[in-house]
Amino acid sequence: MIDLLYLMSSICFVLALKGLSSADSSCAGNLCGMSGMGIALLAAYLGKQTGNGHLIFWAVVVGGAVGLSIARKVSMTDLPQMIAGFHSLVGLAAVLIACTVYAAPDQFGIDASPDGGWFWRVEMGIGAAIGAITFSGSVIAFLKLQSSYKWYHVHPALNVFITVLLLCSLAGFVLLKNSYSFSLAVLTSFALGTALIMPIGGADMPVIVSLLNSCSGWAAAGIGFTLHNDLLIITGALVGASGAILSRIMCRSMNRTLGNVIFGSCHGSLQKNTDRKDQSFTHGAPEEAAFLLKNATSVIVVPGYGMATSHAQHALREMGEALKKRGISVRYAIHPVAGRMPGHMNVLLAEANVPYEDVFSLDDINREFPSCDVAYVVGANDITNPAAKKDELCAIYGMPILEVEKAKVVLFLKRSMGTGYTGVDNELFYAPNTMMLLGDARETTEAILKVL
Ligand code: NDP
Repeated sequence: MIDLLYLMSSICFVLALKGLSSADSSCAGNLCGMSGMGIALLAAYLGKQTGNGHLIFWAVVVGGAVGLSIARKVSMTDLPQMIAGFHSLVGLAAVLIACTVYAAPDQFGIDASPDGGWFWRVEMGIGAAIGAITFSGSVIAFLKLQSSYKWYHVHPALNVFITVLLLCSLAGFVLLKNSYSFSLAVLTSFALGTALIMPIGGADMPVIVSLLNSCSGWAAAGIGFTLHNDLLIITGALVGASGAILSRIMCRSMNRTLGNVIFGSCHGSLQKNTDRKDQSFTHGAPEEAAFLLKNATSVIVVPGYGMATSHAQHALREMGEALKKRGISVRYAIHPVAGRMPGHMNVLLAEANVPYEDVFSLDDINREFPSCDVAYVVGANDITNPAAKKDELCAIYGMPILEVEKAKVVLFLKRSMGTGYTGVDNELFYAPNTMMLLGDARETTEAILKVL
């Protein structure tokens, strides 16, 4: 009976991943995921090995209530830190389970006698170590995404520190013969997670959040082997593999390797800002922008983090429809790391009913900018910054960008001349073909819509 429930739950999780791979089926995918988790909890309750069923019941009620209240309150822009926070709990759970099993293996059906072998200790050691790295790394990722403090200024000696920690951690695994080495592996893994994530910042955070997601899955799978729990192994492997694939896709779209993302920021401060206070720029009004848009034949909208904070997506869709009625081609260009989480812009545009066929990825749209009349950049900055192509010292060097500078006119909607997430100046604001529309992106778009 329990095995059947586990099988049903696993199938639901696989279907959830399949459903989430496209916007059309994402709601169904979410429902499958929720059903899978419901069945898994039921199986855990029915298959309990001790008489503490009421503990499982109350853990589910209290945990569910806390999760529900956080999910209702969290804003779209805070989702990455929420995900990082939840990953930290998965990691901590893996550590706690591993420690519990290590302390009392008999209760979990493990033969801890010398005849029983040592492999179960290694399984738990790996599960606990990955869990500890996930926990401390996710906490640091949460704090970095939550605070506005930029954590780039790192002493190069950190590289050496990290290597020493790695060696200690490995020594812990090799010597996994008693509880001291087990504790050493766990403690060094906590420190390793902190030291690894601390110096990473700016453009690399999306990859790290996805990588930690993957780690939390592998931690769960490792513990699943120890507890002979097939569902934990399957679910952990699904999360681990999908997180790893997403990290790889993001690295490729940023033109980086995973090693470079993790260790690349340890080479000291990368930032180089130019003082552009005296440089002149073109400041436009909504009437002028509306005139330019009306006379265009092709417009490409580039949404970024500012679209999310100003909730400009609905006004944008209305503006797009108004332009289309005049026979103007309107397309939307999505950068893989626009906003603050993978798929952030796609979700917001879908919420505003922007047709999917008008939404294009970076690779597909970049060649269209030279023939486009107006690039309408809504609260985006880093993802359009040409410094990524030429300034080797800047934090986003190597990241492919949306080449809006090749459009005939660039309209930049933002509130000030300030920088974006990575704090790197954008020379495009001062380019002769750029018009700055300073103000809240939604209000500016609504004003343009009114004129149109
Ligand atoms: P940026 O953070 O580079 O720029 C956003 C711009 O929006 C700011 O310059 C800001 O300028 C403007 N803005 C903010 N609020 C408003 C508003 N109400 N109205 C108008 N403009 C506004 O965002 P991008 O999307 O261009 O790039 C994303 C960055 O975030 C990348 O560096 C990426 O690596 C990083 N990141 C991405 C994650 C992901 O998974 N997608 C996760 C974590 C980080 P001003 O203050 O002047 O208005």
